[in-house]
Amino acid sequence: MTEFELIARYFARPVHERQGVGDDCALIDAGERTLAITTDLLAEGVHFFRDVDPASLGHKALAVNLSDLAAAGARPRCFLLALSLPPPRADPAWLEAFSGALFELAGREGCELVGGDTTRAAAVGAADGPVTVCITAIGEVERATLRGRSGARAGDDLWVSGELGDAALALAHARGEVRLGPQQARDCERRLLWPQPRVGLGLALRGLASAAIDISDGLVGDLGQVLERSGVGADVQVPQVPRSEALRAVERTLQLRCLLAGGDDYELLFTASPSHREAIFAAAQHSGIGITRIGSLTKESGLRLLGESGIDATLRGFDHFAGTCQGPPSFDPTRRT
Ligand code: ADP
Ligand code: MG
Repeated sequence: MTEFELIARYFARPVHERQGVGDDCALIDAGERTLAITTDLLAEGVHFFRDVDPASLGHKALAVNLSDLAAAGARPRCFLLALSLPPPRADPAWLEAFSGALFELAGREGCELVGGDTTRAAAVGAADGPVTVCITAIGEVERATLRGRSGARAGDDLWVSGELGDAALALAHARGEVRLGPQQARDCERRLLWPQPRVGLGLALRGLASAAIDISDGLVGDLGQVLERSGVGADVQVPQVPRSEALRAVERTLQLRCLLAGGDDYELLFTASPSHREAIFAAAQHSGIGITRIGSLTKESGLRLLGESGIDATLRGFDHFAGTCQGPPSFDPTRRT
């Protein structure tokens, strides 16, 4: 069973709210306002190594939530922090680094910590258990500019922010699948450990983007979510998908895997009418984030990767979406070299 089958079978229920399971944020009408609410959990051994820099963990735990708010075009308002910590690692240095980076990002984005929960992570009789961090973030959306994953229309342009694939390349490097130079390794690791949520861009695209999602599980899989929920297909020009010099330099199979199916990018993927092109470039310029048009949406369903021959068959399994929803990028600490 894939992650998405599990959610669909056991947890997806019709909701009376504006938007619920299946989107980056739930949208809840609250009087004059609409609240965007999202939660993300990071677990040791699944999302990060045991020896993770606690500062990067504090940053990333909030960043991945703010990235969902960015997709919804919401302005961050506040968040709750649930923390399960093994006592041996709950020392002042760890907690100072973790909370320092968390509050640095929170302050920058104007998002206040308003509550949470803290427990000891240890099985009965054991001294130590895994660290788990779960953040729930709340933002505000203007009702006139609500957007989710389902508003894409045939004929819309398909855009992405930033560059894709470097976080997956950092993982490949950590596993010894590729050897990067020291500077490139540091740059890619930064992308993996210190993702920058595109909140400003998400806000600037209000009223312009017809649908958006943040790319957390890889371009093909996350685009598949938009296509499925919007009932459209897409032609993607693979050579136009933006990538760093470091990724460009690695061999083609790995390069395409990182670019198209890598995880942890936290860039925005969005769709918009071609009539908005100029306004979209202006919005991106205003928010200081690069954007690239990588294709367009079609009436014909399915995803077509164009401009590159012989793309790995596992990346082509996206026509039926179950094949593309393999859950988060496999972050298997035992494979670290
Ligand atoms: P994202 O990557 O944007 O955080 P996910 O891919 O993790 O979203 O989840 C897909 C959708 O399923 C989201 O709408 C999320 O809210 C919902 N979801 C995930 N897990 C559960 C769960 N246990 N119960 C209800 N909804 C869930
Ligand atoms: Mg998301």
